[in-house]
Amino acid sequence: MSTTTLTEFPSHNPATGEVIGTYRNASVEDVNAAVARAHASSRAWQALGFAGRKKVLVAWDAVISKRLSEITELVALETGKPLSDASLEISLAIGHLDWAAKNAARYLSPVTRNPGLIMANMKARVERAPYGVVGVIGPWNYPVFTPMGSIAYSLAAGNTVVFKPSEYTPGVGEWLGATFAEVAPFPDIFQVITGLGATGQALTNAAVDKIAFTGSTRTAKKVAAAAADRMIPTVLECGGKDPVIVDSDANIKKAAEYALWLAMSNAGQTCIGAERVYVHHAVADEFIREIGDMAKEIHPGVNKNYGPATMPSQLNVIQSHIDDAAAKGAKFLIGGTDSVQPPFVQPTIMLDVPEDSLAITEETFGPTLTINRVQNMDEAVALANATRYGLGASVWSKRNGEKIASQLVTGMVSINSVIGFAGVATVPFGGVKDSGYGRIHGPEGLHEFTYLRSVVSERFALPFAFTTFKRTKFADKFLTSVIKFLH
Ligand code: NDP
Repeated sequence: MSTTTLTEFPSHNPATGEVIGTYRNASVEDVNAAVARAHASSRAWQALGFAGRKKVLVAWDAVISKRLSEITELVALETGKPLSDASLEISLAIGHLDWAAKNAARYLSPVTRNPGLIMANMKARVERAPYGVVGVIGPWNYPVFTPMGSIAYSLAAGNTVVFKPSEYTPGVGEWLGATFAEVAPFPDIFQVITGLGATGQALTNAAVDKIAFTGSTRTAKKVAAAAADRMIPTVLECGGKDPVIVDSDANIKKAAEYALWLAMSNAGQTCIGAERVYVHHAVADEFIREIGDMAKEIHPGVNKNYGPATMPSQLNVIQSHIDDAAAKGAKFLIGGTDSVQPPFVQPTIMLDVPEDSLAITEETFGPTLTINRVQNMDEAVALANATRYGLGASVWSKRNGEKIASQLVTGMVSINSVIGFAGVATVPFGGVKDSGYGRIHGPEGLHEFTYLRSVVSERFALPFAFTTFKRTKFADKFLTSVIKFLH
């Protein structure tokens, strides 16, 4: 039976394969109806203003915080990640929701502009207006944190939202919708529609005014093509192949410890996770020894250091990248071609991996890491940039961190730390190249869900007018003289 004819679909515990819930596979008609309802409630949501919306969003924030253990358990159940990782993810999402709610007025209120000398009789301002209805399509790896970057910022800006969670985490999506409904002043401000890929496709084809997508570059391109057909904007948060660059003056122990966590945590299913290390040859042996020793202590399992692959088909991708690297001559520091033991993947660190290997060129999205030695930081930067992705990066150096960071073609960089940019609510999150475009988080994340409206009005009338067929010769002469004088 084709998936489009299914009315329901199951959600599984990825660690055991056990069915843990059944959800509606929303049809095209369901999606269109949800979007129509979102349009109907849009004006009232906008009319609440920044203060009214802030009240609702802060109340939602309080409900999520109060029931943190409930949503933590649900995230852990549907993704397979450890409870403490789920709790960290949700805590970060709560921080973003709170920041967006409390800062929308500050960053989205109208600003006045100088009209200039020639137009001195005019008053000018720039407004930021919400698009209307935003369609949010979310992934399964961080099913609260990632979509919240679009949901909270869209809502705070005055949009209503229709959210389609991943088919692997529909329960988490429904929980978010249900808790919002508890604080909503009226229905259809934030709706959740569950379903398979076709439901996401239906949302991109529905009458939404903007799409915020997180997932693979392959699907992002389809979303962007559908949006282009309707001339609606998109914000696309796609995958990465994030490098860790370690210079000769780095704190090697710390760099190794953090790189290991960045590569292996959440079973490597992090768009801004480490996939490649470029380490200065002078400290390479020390770095490899440190990370190898620490990696021996890391184990996958239920509530161990990290859980199973959430999406079973990802195991084939991980296996193919490991096999390809092995066939091309990579050595294994930890793990090997037998690392994939469904549904888990053992930590796998590969050394001296040829730069044309899949493990270097394609997003693996598993607990694997490549480590290659470089002669100097110019070579590290060149190799780090030699990928079709450009999401995040981590740089380790006591003296040269800023210099190295400034040369990276990525949307985000952490220096002597990892993924700081995801937790700091005031900085934008997003990438370049195949990692997508547009930004969530921070003032730019609020801007993303508004369009600009320039409003210019007359303060007082001049004795002569330019924008009329009654323009006089004196007006022409006056304008010419002023321009010559000014320029
Ligand atoms: P997808 O890009 O296919 O899925 C992401 C979201 O898009 C899901 O909600 C999915 O729904 C939905 N979707 C699927 N097809 C369409 C469509 N035609 N139009 C609109 N929406 C659609 O990613 P996968 O989950 O299949 O993962 C594949 C790869 O993507 C991973 O191996 C990883 O490399 C990368 N990825 C990156 C993420 C990131 O954080 N940047 C997150 C997740 C994946 P459904 O789940 O129902 O198919």
